[in-house]
Amino acid sequence: MECDVIVIGGGPAGMTAAIYLGRAGKKVILFEGNAMGGTLARLKRIENFPGSVSNVGAEIAVRMEAQTRSFGTTIVNEFVSGVQKTKDGFDVFTDTEVYKAKYVVYAGGIVRARPEAEKRFRGSGVSYCAVCDGNFFRGKTVAVIGDGEAAFRDVKYLLPLCKKVYHVFTVRPADGAEGIKGKAEDFLGENSLSGIVVGGKTIAVDGAFIAMGGSASEIIKGLELKNGLIASDNGRTNIENFFVAGDAADGSMRQVVSACYEGAKVAEYCV
Ligand SMILES: Cc1cc2nc3c(=O)[nH]c(=O)nc-3n(C[C@H](O)[C@H](O)[C@H](O)COP(=O)(O)OP(=O)(O)OC[C@H]3O[C@@H](n4cnc5c(N)ncnc54)[C@H](O)[C@@H]3O)c2cc1C
Repeated sequence: MECDVIVIGGGPAGMTAAIYLGRAGKKVILFEGNAMGGTLARLKRIENFPGSVSNVGAEIAVRMEAQTRSFGTTIVNEFVSGVQKTKDGFDVFTDTEVYKAKYVVYAGGIVRARPEAEKRFRGSGVSYCAVCDGNFFRGKTVAVIGDGEAAFRDVKYLLPLCKKVYHVFTVRPADGAEGIKGKAEDFLGENSLSGIVVGGKTIAVDGAFIAMGGSASEIIKGLELKNGLIASDNGRTNIENFFVAGDAADGSMRQVVSACYEGAKVAEYCV
């Protein structure tokens, strides 16, 4: 099957790209390997998407999907296993078929690194995003777990909000936080998180922010990665006519609102 643009990923970035492209009269096929809506559809509460003060993510995702379909995008519930550059575009492979398009927008999000032990407290004390959930821990004691830029950004964001911020690090502690060298070995609590264990010692915390980075898929040969994500110059990758939007792009703010902006931005390149 042939079309103008193939969008890989049915989260906010992919759906926004498809909405803009559909309205511009392009023939678009969007592939989603799981449930439409991506991470957004799984958010129990989202307060910072303008126009919906406090909402369940799935409600916004359902409206986005209806809007995407209304402008003519074909949604295929299949996982894209790979993309190949051809003379005049791309071959996009699923398990059952090969699709052709002149442009590809990759909006597949990221796979986040998660310590095994935190699973019990996801959504009840453990978070992956300080900008998203920091406000829920105003005046409380929290720990940021991880190294690198993502952890430093989270510490900086949480310091003015929280009573105390610990930084559990292995390489370099973040300025302003109380640094604890080591790894989070366990997460403790009854119904919600009350402490973490580092180096055999329990530290009482109300919240823990995991900032251990993530990775994007190497969906096409030769794609340049940066910090484990797809290297992006405003959505342009090193492969001509292969664009990236949303969390998968290095440098993205990793919010629903930025995913939407980036989806709209790369749509511009395909019209
Ligand atoms: C716990 C948590 C809380 C958050 N809270 C907030 C918040 O309060 N406010 C906020 O603005 N943001 C929040 N975020 C961030 C927000 O959810 C993401 O920034 C946003 O969803 C990114 O959108 P995306 O479209 O880039 O990727 P995603 O939403 O991750 O969507 C990517 C989609 O692509 C699909 N896909 C991947 N590879 C393929 C493939 N090969 N073939 C087909 N489909 C594929 C995936 O199945 C997925 O559905 C939160 C994130 C987390 C993890």
